[in-house]
Amino acid sequence: MSTPWPRASYFNDGTAAARHAMEDLELVERANWLELYRRKSDDSYWRLTAAEKYEQRFLIRIENVQGWSSFDSAPLERQLLLERRGGLGKEACITQGCSQPVVLGSAFCLEHTYERGVRK
Ligand SMILES: [Zn+2]
Repeated sequence: MSTPWPRASYFNDGTAAARHAMEDLELVERANWLELYRRKSDDSYWRLTAAEKYEQRFLIRIENVQGWSSFDSAPLERQLLLERRGGLGKEACITQGCSQPVVLGSAFCLEHTYERGVRK
C-alpha cells in the first residue's frame, strides 16, 4: 500500500521527505530541465524540475505521459504559493491597471507575484 501524494508539492533536496520520495521514484526521461519519474509503488508518473536550473523544485503528478514535458504546471505552482502564503490580503495589487487582491506578504496579486519569479 502506498500513501497518495498531493498533485503538486514543493520538493526540497536534503529533506527526509525528499529522500523518502526519491526511494520510490525511478528516472524515466529528462528534457528541458525537467525530469520524468515513475513511482514504483503505484505506477504513477511524476515530474520534477531539475535541481541545477530552478531555485525551487516542484514535484507534480503527470496524468498524460505523452505530453509530460510540455504540461503547464504554473496554475498548480501558483496554488501552492497561495496556500503557503495563507491566502489573499485586503489591499489591491500595486501593478498599474491591476485590481486583484494581494497575496499575503506581497504587494502583488497572485499572478503578478508569480510573474516576478516568486515561488514560495
Ligand atoms: Zn496584479
